[in-house]
Amino acid sequence: VGNLVLTDLVKRYENTDPAARPAVDGVSLDVEAGEFLTLLGPSGCGKTTTLRMVAGFETPTSGTISLDGADMLRLPPNKRPMAMVFQSYALFPHLSVFENVAYGLRIDRVRRARLEEAVEIALTSMNLTGLGERFPHQLSGGQQQRVALARAMVVQPSVLLFDEPLSNLDAKFREQMRREIRLLQRRMGITSLYVTHDQAEAMSLSDRIVVMNAGRVEQVATPAEVYTRP
Ligand code: ADP
Ligand code: ADP
Repeated sequence: VGNLVLTDLVKRYENTDPAARPAVDGVSLDVEAGEFLTLLGPSGCGKTTTLRMVAGFETPTSGTISLDGADMLRLPPNKRPMAMVFQSYALFPHLSVFENVAYGLRIDRVRRARLEEAVEIALTSMNLTGLGERFPHQLSGGQQQRVALARAMVVQPSVLLFDEPLSNLDAKFREQMRREIRLLQRRMGITSLYVTHDQAEAMSLSDRIVVMNAGRVEQVATPAEVYTRP
């Protein structure tokens, strides 16, 4: 499971010049189950808007979004089997690492024993064993981002959405996190839609790269194809 299909997606923000191009201007994509697909392009080209429509944080002006044939636009964000990892971690500062990771499961009223087990597994898989009692401000940036990843994974989503998750990290952590994201995604086989403006990052993570420009898809290629083209 996890085949994500976007068809002719358009987003025109309200209060913007109706004569100007929409922020997202007719994007169609077929993300295979288990695929790691990256949206790459300059700032303002519509990557984040596309991702936020998939997540349900923005409503498309027109177009469709389906997951394994089911219409996602009928579902509010919390009912879509997806989890998003943000640039700014978006951890709750007043909650411990354990409680941050458990948050999504609490909403689903998962029983205590199962919840503890699921959280421990998520923490272990992200190399955070023993850090459950700490608070976000007691962690490094790389550790905080791993908590954010653990929180996304623990709900066992069909699709992971990443909005420039590495751009706030030091170069040293960035390389390490890149490897961890890739390993994790391979191991779990979760369909991943990843947004970045960093070509090297896109090349090292992706099965396919979607190059966007001015709200449109300009090119879809594997990293190898991006390399060999003039
Ligand atoms: P990217 O993620 O590629 O940097 P965005 O999707 O953030 O691009 O933005 C695409 C375009 O939409 C930009 O011109 C941006 O200024 C505009 N935009 C983004 N969010 C809003 C908003 N909430 N209201 C109006 N315009 C927006
Ligand atoms: P990024 O490039 O990382 O997407 P931005 O600085 O473009 O970040 O956007 C940060 C926030 O501001 C987002 O929530 C986006 O929707 C909003 N935003 C971006 N451009 C505009 C705009 N022109 N008008 C209103 N809100 C905007």
